[in-house]
Amino acid sequence: MKRIGVFICHCGVNIADTVDVELLTEKLAEYPGVAHIENYMFMCSDPGQNLIKEAIEKHKLDGVVVAACSPTLHESTFQDAISEVGVNKYQLEIGNIREQCSWVHNVKEEATRKAELIIKTAVEKAKLNQALDPVKAPLTKRVLIIGGGIAGIQAALDIADGGYEVIMVEKKPSIGGHMIQLSETFPTLDCSQCILTPKMVQLGKHKNIKLYVNSELEEISGFMGNFKAKIKRQPQFVDPEKCTLCDDCTDSCPVVVPSEYDEGLDYRRAIYVPFPQAIPSTYTIDTEHCLGFEPIACGECKKVCLPEAIDYDKKPEIFKEDIGAIIVATGYDLYPVENIPEYGYGKYPDVMNGLQFERILSATGPTGGKMLRPSDGKVPKEVVFIQCSGSRDPERHNAYCSKICCMYTLKHAKLYKHKVHDGQPYVFYIDIRSGGKRYEEFIQEGVKEDGIIYIRGKVAKVYKEGDKMVVHGMDTLTGKKVTVKADLVVLAQSMVPSEGAKDLFKNLKIGTDKDGFLSEAHPKLRPLESLQSGFFLAGAGQGPKDIPDAISQASGAAAKILALMSQDEVQHEPIIATVDDNKCSGCGICIGTCPYGARILNDNMIAEVNDILCEGCGACIAACPSGASQQKNLTDDQILNMINVILN
Ligand code: SF4
Ligand code: SF4
Repeated sequence: MKRIGVFICHCGVNIADTVDVELLTEKLAEYPGVAHIENYMFMCSDPGQNLIKEAIEKHKLDGVVVAACSPTLHESTFQDAISEVGVNKYQLEIGNIREQCSWVHNVKEEATRKAELIIKTAVEKAKLNQALDPVKAPLTKRVLIIGGGIAGIQAALDIADGGYEVIMVEKKPSIGGHMIQLSETFPTLDCSQCILTPKMVQLGKHKNIKLYVNSELEEISGFMGNFKAKIKRQPQFVDPEKCTLCDDCTDSCPVVVPSEYDEGLDYRRAIYVPFPQAIPSTYTIDTEHCLGFEPIACGECKKVCLPEAIDYDKKPEIFKEDIGAIIVATGYDLYPVENIPEYGYGKYPDVMNGLQFERILSATGPTGGKMLRPSDGKVPKEVVFIQCSGSRDPERHNAYCSKICCMYTLKHAKLYKHKVHDGQPYVFYIDIRSGGKRYEEFIQEGVKEDGIIYIRGKVAKVYKEGDKMVVHGMDTLTGKKVTVKADLVVLAQSMVPSEGAKDLFKNLKIGTDKDGFLSEAHPKLRPLESLQSGFFLAGAGQGPKDIPDAISQASGAAAKILALMSQDEVQHEPIIATVDDNKCSGCGICIGTCPYGARILNDNMIAEVNDILCEGCGACIAACPSGASQQKNLTDDQILNMINVILN
């Protein structure tokens, strides 16, 4: 029979004030299987761990129960301690008598009784625990990054500089994301393009980075350390090796469409370079708007292209890449303001979104950086900014705060004042959230030095009267209605996951929250990883964030991956599902139940578990009608023994 040691922690007063640890020690000393028991003030401390190690050696223990706090806090601490003295780390059980007992009860007698049951169930489980070894598999030391915005770029550079190969997939014709559209960044007012383009150039030239633009991830298979990616690249129809960037093709193209880079405030041709600093700097034919070349309906660009760089016969290509880990950096889009019809976006040209205003402010924008409104090209003398457009409105729009709008609205108002000294910016706000280094000071400066008028309240409607935009709202501080007649209205829209992200995340089988943003493995302790092993998160695809936060998260994810890449093989928790061949009827129910695709039916029609893919969630075990599926160290026998303790 196993010799189990039980170690009860006081956790200072956290446990001992509510649970009678001395009485428990006395009572449980006689419990079958318990070969040794003691209690201590702080079991996780060095002396506490030494006490466990000495007891293991002295009493020849081969199973350990630590009755203390949640296993998420110190399970690995105690696992390491017992392995140091030769006991397999999976012979450890934690009885959580803090979060699940002392913290939620205040009657000592009852809490002590409950702690006794928790410890007894842990002992019952420990009795049947097997010694296990981590599942090991070879590691492909290459990283896939999905998304070429600032988060993806930063992560790619960090990993590539660390000496590992990076494959970046970007669905647009250039990397740069939304940051390349910005004029200046808060709170320092650095020129966004000046700080981003050197990184883009560095990425484009990096010997360890392979860049696929105009591309999407078609399929991913495999498991952490050994993924296989299928990437579909749409043709650009222009050979970058031959193209001299003369622009003759663009000049000849008869098709004019709204420019994505300028958020529809300017135009581009069907053959175009997305923006002057694009990486790669190559022309692309936008087949959606081109008059067509199957059969050739126009052919003007090809006719004028002297170096014969244009080839209409190019087809989509599929590339296969072996990958060890993946960073998902898919970024954000803006909440469609068309969903807020009362603000008049799309109806009135002088109601615009935040990114459009960035383009008006930018020297590379449609007005060359001059503050001119779209309808008539006049300088707007009064501008209303409406914060929380689509955010913090659980009844009608998104319940969450988009985190960056307070700051970028202030930046917009400030930059507007720098261009129109006699202009008046008004900001409608719910409240101001300026949690960031120098953010609050930035707000205060805006109010004091730039004369920005803040009106606390929500806007009810925006409509046109003559050449003015009339903004009706309620000042919630005075309780009075407010009307501002403005020349321009700018909406600070909510951030939402980027277009197409929903399908991609589904394809990758990675979890999202109710708003469609990527879910972290643990919101506090593992914020850079997905629950799906081998997937790491960076940037606004995980939730609204500003540039410093996106970069920090990207570098954090890159550091995690560099640590992973420094290993020779991947290790995976062995608490996974098993199949008893003799009991499996081959019904296949578990195959469809497994959310991780870890099960197959083999040639003998018996279910098999891929040890690396299995996350030990237990879904298949619950679904298996013949009892053939079990989980290592959480078998039906263990569970029944634990239940018996409670019922008896
Ligand atoms: S073929 Fe297409 S891209 Fe080329 S010039 Fe004509 S419309 Fe423009
Ligand atoms: S335990 Fe979960 S992850 Fe493992 S095979 Fe069963 S359903 Fe799939």
